Order: sequence, then structure tokens, then C-alpha cells
Amino acid sequence: MINSAMGPLSPDKMGTTLVHEHFCFAYPGWFADVTIAPYDPEAVLQAGLAACATLKEIGVQTVIDPTPNDTGGRDPLLYKELSSRTGINIICTTGLYTEKEGSPVYWAGRKVWGTDISRMMADLFIKEISEGIGVTGVKAGAIKVGSSPVMTDYEKDVHKAAAAAQKATGVPIITHTEGPTGGPEQAEFLLSQGADPKKVLIGHVSNSKEIGYLKAILAKGVSIGFDRLGLSILYGIPDEIHVQNIAALCKEGYASKIMLSHDTVNFWLGRPMDVPEQAMELFKDWRIDHVSRDIVPALKQSGVSDGQIKTMMVDNPRNLFTGKG
Ligand SMILES: [Zn+2]
Repeated sequence: MINSAMGPLSPDKMGTTLVHEHFCFAYPGWFADVTIAPYDPEAVLQAGLAACATLKEIGVQTVIDPTPNDTGGRDPLLYKELSSRTGINIICTTGLYTEKEGSPVYWAGRKVWGTDISRMMADLFIKEISEGIGVTGVKAGAIKVGSSPVMTDYEKDVHKAAAAAQKATGVPIITHTEGPTGGPEQAEFLLSQGADPKKVLIGHVSNSKEIGYLKAILAKGVSIGFDRLGLSILYGIPDEIHVQNIAALCKEGYASKIMLSHDTVNFWLGRPMDVPEQAMELFKDWRIDHVSRDIVPALKQSGVSDGQIKTMMVDNPRNLFTGKG
């Protein structure tokens, strides 16, 4: 059984799944601004309900929200409420972000005295998976890690902890990479620590347009996430290129190793960003229904079959949890 926000979930009940979306997110430091921009649980809830209503319209049944512990926005009770009110299955994670964008200082303050921080992290991950997150009663269903283009020593401690926690609990590891490098090395490191390649999803591979890079990750036996579709602005790679690459990989027999998602943030904590109107246009496809409404039809036009779409959207997320396939 999978740990979902509502409790045990049978893998067969996952259905169409988005493997990487954030209901709420902030970068570390947002809490310094809470006097001006306090946490507004009602606004976060309303944004989440709107996202879930869209998901229901397009037939998505399950969402994995891989918000790490050390950024902002991970809220197990929000996921539970959204799930109970809408019927969308939500699986959340335990884990830590990159050295640059996470909160390594807390751990560094212990490492300096010789503490095995990787062991500490593993203890945390295991407790959140097996007993629950804080006092919420919600158990994490997967582990989230992130690495820089060249993995730092701190990130190695995090990845080592993730592999140890996976060995202890059997849950999948979902990653953040920066791209256009680092994916194969991240997979290699996790496997060297004993992670199960069938339960590793290397995320953000759509930060690269090079099919050779994608194949180098796939060669490790892990899955890859084209999980920033609609977010072309970030690396300047249009979705058309990703569609071509996904279609080419499907043709070469890799459909069982590919998952699709957007990495949307449905609510940003902190003060609203002053994004000029013209710039908003660049984010118009960064929506939780972009894969279903735009990418899937484009993939079909490029020769991807209905069966392969189902493989990517239904079977692969399920197999990531069961280790089958
Ligand atoms: Zn993300």
C-alpha cells in the first residue's frame, strides 16, 4: 500500500497520475516576510480546491506533491483536506532540497562537530514515512532529493540518506536536477548507495534538449520525468522539442521509463511577485492541465499511441511505487 494523505492507497487505485506538482511552495526565507505576507490558510485551500477541480475535469486521479521539508509550503493537513473534499489522491514526500536552494545551514551546524548528518536525515525520512509527519498523522509516500549540476558534499549526504530510507521503507525516490547536466551522476550516486533503479525517478530532465543526455540517464535503469512541461521559459526549450524527444524515446522502446508532469506551483507563499503583464504571457502554459490538454494531443500527432500515453500517465507512476514493470 502507498502512503497517501488520506491513508493507505492501493497502487491499482492511482489511475492517471501527475508525478510532480506543488499545491503550495516558497523558497527558504519566505518566513522572514510573514509580517507583511502572513500565511493565509484559506487562500492556499481555495487555490488547491481550484487545482483539484481542474484535475477532476481532465481525469487526473492522483498527484504527487514533492515539496521538500526545508523550503516552504509542505502542508500535510492541507493535502488531507483537499483529498477528502475532492477525492483526488495526494501523495506527499519527506526530503531535502539542493544546497543552494534548500536549508543546509541547520545541518552544517551539526556536521562541523563531526555528526553523521546523513544518518540524522535518514532517521527523519524513515520516521516521516513509517510514523508520520509531525503530529499530522499523514505519512510521507516518497522521498524527495535535489542536486546541483555537480553534486555537493551536502547533497551527497542527502542522497545517501534517501537511499538508506528507501532500503528501510521501500518507497520511491523522486529527484530535482538542475540540468542540462547532473542527471546520470545523480542516478549513479543513488544506485551506488543501494537505491532500487525501478523506484527512482530522475526529475526535470526537460531542462535539457539533448536526447543523448536523456539516454545516459535511462542507461542507469531509472525512470525520467519530463516534469516541467509548460515551463519552457526556465531553460528556453520549447515544449515542441520535448514532444519530439518523448516521441523519439517511445519509438525506441522507452515508454515504460517516462513520466509527465508540470512542476506547477499552485500557490506561492510570501508577497506576490510583481510580474509585468507581458511576462505573464511566458507562463501561460504552466498550468496543471497543460499535459492533458496540449501535450498529449501533440504526442499523439507525433505518433505516440494511446497505449504509450497510458503507460506514461498510469502504469509508470504505479510501477514506481510497486517496483514492478
Ligand atoms: Zn518541484
